[in-house]
Amino acid sequence: MNGQIFVDGDYVASASGAMFDVVDPSNREVFHRVPRGNSEDIDRAVRAARRAFDEGPWPRISGAERAAVLRRMGDRIAERRDELARLEVRDNGKPLPEALWDVDDTAGVFHFYANLAERLDNQTVQEIKLGAEGFTSKAVKEPIGVAGAIIPWNFPLLMASWKVAPALAAGCTVVLKPSELTPITALELGGIAQEAGLPAGVLNIVTGFGPEAGQPLTEHPGVDKLAFTGSVPTGSRIMATAAKDIKTVSLELGGKSPLVVFADTPIDEAVEWIMFGIFWNQGEVCSATSRVLIEEPIYETLMARLADEARRIKIGHGLDEGVLLGPLVSPSQHDKVLACIERGKSEARLVTGGGVPKGLEGGCYVEPTIFADMDEDAWIWREEIFGPVVCVKPFKTEDEAIRMANDSRFGLGAAVMSADLDRAERVARAFRAGIVWINCSQPTFTEAPWGGYKQSGIGRELGEWGLMNYLETKQITTFD
Ligand code: NAD
Repeated sequence: MNGQIFVDGDYVASASGAMFDVVDPSNREVFHRVPRGNSEDIDRAVRAARRAFDEGPWPRISGAERAAVLRRMGDRIAERRDELARLEVRDNGKPLPEALWDVDDTAGVFHFYANLAERLDNQTVQEIKLGAEGFTSKAVKEPIGVAGAIIPWNFPLLMASWKVAPALAAGCTVVLKPSELTPITALELGGIAQEAGLPAGVLNIVTGFGPEAGQPLTEHPGVDKLAFTGSVPTGSRIMATAAKDIKTVSLELGGKSPLVVFADTPIDEAVEWIMFGIFWNQGEVCSATSRVLIEEPIYETLMARLADEARRIKIGHGLDEGVLLGPLVSPSQHDKVLACIERGKSEARLVTGGGVPKGLEGGCYVEPTIFADMDEDAWIWREEIFGPVVCVKPFKTEDEAIRMANDSRFGLGAAVMSADLDRAERVARAFRAGIVWINCSQPTFTEAPWGGYKQSGIGRELGEWGLMNYLETKQITTFD
């Protein structure tokens, strides 16, 4: 790729001529430079995508033909597994085993949507029974057009696949804007598409900053649909911009997801899922278990175990053996999370962590951090931190746990643990959240819908729901 963006089937120089640094968060050193895309680059990319949609083969060929290309993209990602995972570690900081899961999942997402593309051939026409004599009607599914996809930095390649794969399966063309913090692996998708035989202009990738490249993409009249994953303020701004010319928008935003643990839960299982829920991917997970509610009889015992486990987590470079917690994604995210922790110290009891681990001061590392004894209106209890920080509170009754869990402007994930499955199901139904786990937390499946209630977003990704995001429904009625 050599410092180029991917437009109209090839890597090309950015119109801006400017580059920006990509920093390795394990040592704060620059390890790559990529083009600082601007509105001219976005315009070029959208025009290419528009041409490919209006005149090219991609929306017109069968789902089975599109499936063959998607499958080859998935295969190519799987073949480059180790190389892509190592790039993710340098770009994002995450431990290698987690980066390998991400790459495997990414290949799986392309294979999954290849299968759905194939099935679309038999599902695009639905006959409709009408009450009126002489008329027949049918509903036809068609690709929505040019999709603008804007993604965050926590799962760089996987987040790209959640948008690119269903959009391509539907027959859409795409302009992808990766996060400025982690643009490397998403940019690799261009070459992967090329090798898989994706026609020119169907996938375009422009790197750059939000205001310089993201904003022009949301404003561009050639874009029919915007698919965004990121923070609530950016999502809100994108929705406001899209409203000007009535673009369809899907938003996957932030969270402050609760996990409710009842006293009949085996302690070891509770410890395992809470630790994984908040500390995998450094807590930089939209659905992270950042609020834990523990039933009073086991509160003290479970808290002691959690603190103990948190202190034992191996922190270090993502490529080192046995590391469970890597550096945060960037110096700015490191500063932000440390500032959140300082604010937390003024309104809660710091149980463990709260600082930079000794010997790792050169990188963007933060200790696994647990807070307790905060009020329900405490900032640290209510706001998303997006780092390895969890807040824990006791509860007395099921109703109180449900009320506290739902008392949030977010509604992305929620989890409940109990040996009583009737109770767990009752609580799961009562949660006002789009993704609910029983007796686990965080496992994500390509087949199942993903998305939030309330300020956590609009629409669903993954599964068949993800494909629907990129399809229009047309009514065709005949009088005979
Ligand atoms: P962010 O909102 O700062 O940035 C996300 C993307 O938007 C980046 O590519 C950025 O360049 C772009 N952007 C910024 N300003 C823009 C503008 N004015 N117009 C267009 N694009 C613009 O978010 P982030 O810090 O990258 O990611 C963290 C957030 O993402 C967290 O809130 C997290 O919860 C959320 N997230 C949600 C999900 C989910 O599935 N719900 C998944 C991952 C992350």
